[in-house]
Amino acid sequence: MLPPDLPLSAALTLLGSALLHCTETGRNLSVVRSLRRWENLSAREDLVSAKQRSVLLSQERACCLCHKRIGNGSSVFVAYPTGSLAHYLCFKRAGGAAVGAPAGVLGGSEDTDDGDNVPAW
Ligand SMILES: [Zn+2]
Repeated sequence: MLPPDLPLSAALTLLGSALLHCTETGRNLSVVRSLRRWENLSAREDLVSAKQRSVLLSQERACCLCHKRIGNGSSVFVAYPTGSLAHYLCFKRAGGAAVGAPAGVLGGSEDTDDGDNVPAW
């Protein structure tokens, strides 16, 4: 609230700077909103590419940690971004840091903590 005895020139200066501050805040919020929208779109794009990724599993493919074959169709395995595969249990025993974070968990019927075989992407 402005005091009643405030000169009009001082009130104009005060109101002008307040208006300028509100305008600047609005522009900054608009920039932040645009950046957040871009981050959201970028994350969605990453998700779509991760979901479109496929892994070719053959009888010759071996676990990169224990070097045993994975390709019998009954093992749960993780796929690393490098293309390497590992048994899910080997991955868990290694602490998940042997090759890097896996791109996803795939596979058959080997025992897991959650018991399902749905890819965890
Ligand atoms: Zn293994």
